[in-house]
Amino acid sequence: MISRALGPLFRPAAALIGRLRYAQKFVVVGLVLLVPLGFVATAYVDLQRDQIAFSAKERSGVAVMAPLVELAGRIAQGRHAAVTAGGGEAVVNEAVVNEAAIDRAAIDRAIAVVDAADRRTGPTLGTAQGWAASRRLVLAARHATGTAADRYAAYDAAMAALLGLIVRVGDESNLTLDPDLDTYYLMDTLQFRLPVVLDNAGRGVDLALLADTRPAGARTDALIQLGLTNGVLIATRATIGRAVATAVAKTADDAVRRRTIADFRRLDDATAALTAILTTAVKDRRPGRVPAGASDAVRAAAADFAANAATSLDRLLRARIEGFSGRAYRVQLAAGLAALLGAYLFVGFYLSVVPPIRRMVAALHAVAAGDLTRRVVVDTHDELSVVARALNDTVAKTEIATDRLAREATHDILTGLPNRALALDRLDQALAAGRQRGALLAVLFIDLDRFKPINDSLGHHAGDAVLCEIAGRLARLPGLDTVARLGGDEFLAICERLAHPAVAVERADRVVAELSRPFVLGAGATAREVSVGASIGVAYADGSTVQAPADLIRDADVATYEAKQRGRGRAEVFDDQLRTAIERRLQTHVDLRHAIGSGQIRAFYQPIVDGGTAAVLGFEALARWQHPARGLLTPDQFIAVAEETGLIVPLGAEILTQACAQAVHWRREHPRAHVAVNVASAQLAHESLVPTIARVLADTGLDPDALWLEITETTIMADTEAAVETLRAVRALGVHLAIDDFGTGYSSLAYLRRFPVEILKIDRSFVAGLGHDREDEAIVGMILSLAGALGLRVVAEGVESAEQWGQLRQLGCGFMQGFFFGRPMPAAETHTLLTRPQPILS
Ligand code: C2E
Ligand code: CA
Ligand code: CA
Repeated sequence: MISRALGPLFRPAAALIGRLRYAQKFVVVGLVLLVPLGFVATAYVDLQRDQIAFSAKERSGVAVMAPLVELAGRIAQGRHAAVTAGGGEAVVNEAVVNEAAIDRAAIDRAIAVVDAADRRTGPTLGTAQGWAASRRLVLAARHATGTAADRYAAYDAAMAALLGLIVRVGDESNLTLDPDLDTYYLMDTLQFRLPVVLDNAGRGVDLALLADTRPAGARTDALIQLGLTNGVLIATRATIGRAVATAVAKTADDAVRRRTIADFRRLDDATAALTAILTTAVKDRRPGRVPAGASDAVRAAAADFAANAATSLDRLLRARIEGFSGRAYRVQLAAGLAALLGAYLFVGFYLSVVPPIRRMVAALHAVAAGDLTRRVVVDTHDELSVVARALNDTVAKTEIATDRLAREATHDILTGLPNRALALDRLDQALAAGRQRGALLAVLFIDLDRFKPINDSLGHHAGDAVLCEIAGRLARLPGLDTVARLGGDEFLAICERLAHPAVAVERADRVVAELSRPFVLGAGATAREVSVGASIGVAYADGSTVQAPADLIRDADVATYEAKQRGRGRAEVFDDQLRTAIERRLQTHVDLRHAIGSGQIRAFYQPIVDGGTAAVLGFEALARWQHPARGLLTPDQFIAVAEETGLIVPLGAEILTQACAQAVHWRREHPRAHVAVNVASAQLAHESLVPTIARVLADTGLDPDALWLEITETTIMADTEAAVETLRAVRALGVHLAIDDFGTGYSSLAYLRRFPVEILKIDRSFVAGLGHDREDEAIVGMILSLAGALGLRVVAEGVESAEQWGQLRQLGCGFMQGFFFGRPMPAAETHTLLTRPQPILS
């Protein structure tokens, strides 16, 4: 609230200070605080100096006033002596006057004292001229001759001048302006009252003595004057009483109080006595009764009082001056100490603020430049240390986050292994090192077998657990310098500094063995064992040529593929042979693309015969490729490539078209002839299969009943649900379905009942075992009896000899195919074979 209200007020200050760097802020604020302090202290000290000068002037006034009062006392004495020496109207010469006990020496001494004082103070007080005039009158009185009245008048004139000068000195020396009551009243007493007492006490007695010698008329005047003088004395006595009472009450100086009281008592008593005498004399009109020495006690007491009062005044003024200079000194000291302490603390303030800020700024710059290890040390307990802590925390958190990001950029989050990017980087370094040393290194591309089923059937958690376990096993295996996860179920290992290529193969075999050990997933009741395995491709770099890491990994990947092709759970080396094969495969792919649709692909036909009579009932269409350079190629040279590249789809359609056209041809003479066409898994998975078959049937006009489609057991097993759908659609066209290579896919016959299949083709590997392999014989026998029970027809493939034929016939195999009955042949050679057309399916 307050800060909001005052905000606008301080905004200019904030803007001004905010514009300055910290060092400048401190200088500005320091100056703003220290300079006025200096001014105030100086002003105060100046004030004390003024006071001291004021009091010093008073002291000089006192110094000259005391001898002046003393002199006034002497003059009063002289005046008295002048009256008492000669008497009457007699003219007295110098000698007589001298005899008259006028203490001229005392007057001279007093003059000398005033002279000395005047030399010191006259010029400053401006009383030198006044003194010179008074001095002349004093000297004139001292030397006065003539009648008593004349001399009296001379002294009186001197007295009047002195009294005037005393007042002048008082005015000029500030004494009349004195601020303290004790000194003021002492001064008042010294300056005004005591001279008056001195003057009037003597004057009273002198007037009385003079009056006594006067004629009656003049006497009355003198008496009046005496009365007046006496009145002045009485009044002055009272005034002194009050002044002294105040001064004594106010002074702090005991010695001054005691002395003043004593002096006052003495004067007061003497004055009281004198005024009593004078009062009686006036009342009785008998001035002659006043004793000549009646005023002596008063004059002496007043003179002593004056001398002591001057001493006291001087003492009080000196004490006051000491007080002032003491205070000035203390203020100077305090101001100096405050300034020093302030400056000291200010430097501390500066050092506790600016260096930490500089350190923080430096740290922030360093952090911005990427040094996340920087921390700031601020050993204060203020907001800056809070800021520093917050800064350090932030940097630390950033460091952790950055480390994690850096780690995640280079590592697989699931397994913690290096990822593909880091693997490439490491491989790059290893290749460079290998080239430098001419050392052999190998890359192991590890592809898991049977991982997908685990992931699909047991879930991703199980899959993740298996991957982590595999990562652990790989990391623990010796001889693998870098183990990385490339993604999915693919891992990579680098083996550096190999003594021999065989060492890498040994290590790869060890990896295969290690990963084929079963894994236990879960614990307790839910624990279950799963087993994966690995196919590994090994690629070498011997350091003789520059090889890109990605190329080496690709080679190893190709070798892995080969390992998979050759039955999984094994390691294959990427060697020249494989390289040639790969290149050939690549070339085959390129050529095959041109071959399809250009008449190079031709269907050959192999007879399918009646098992009992060997009569040809139909043919299986088998693809051949009339390659312009390589001659006639068999399926093993191009079907795999066609399947991998998807070219099998148009190739299959071409064979189907030829086969259907050929069958129509046969059926003109042999209406029951049929044709079997192979369908690969890529075709079965392709949405064009059913429309293509329908179109070909429509185009050629072949009765669907004359067409068999052969699908291998493993193809059907691979994607059961989709396969069932498609096969039903195919069957719905009226086409028949056969399971090819039966017995190699480990499927049960009962299971196969789900498919709309009517024919089984026993794989030729079982037929090859007939006559010497009991197991094969048992399997063939079992297939035949089960097929019979399920109402399926059976074709035995690969019959090469009369013995095999005989044995199969004995086992009751209805249909056969094999070199024994006829090899695959061009269409032109088929017609003569179709002698006794009998339908297999009827
Ligand atoms: P398959 O479907 O099992 O075809 C039978 C294969 O066994 C043919 O090889 C045939 O020549 C051979 N054969 C027949 N009788 C004997 C015998 O007594 N002894 C031996 N040792 N072999 C015999 P071919 O023509 O080389 O075909 C190989 C494979 O290529 C076929 O196996 C089939 O799976 C595939 N194939 C051939 N043509 C096509 C096609 O047009 N489309 C598709 N998808 N695959 C095809
Ligand atoms: Ca076949
Ligand atoms: Ca077959």
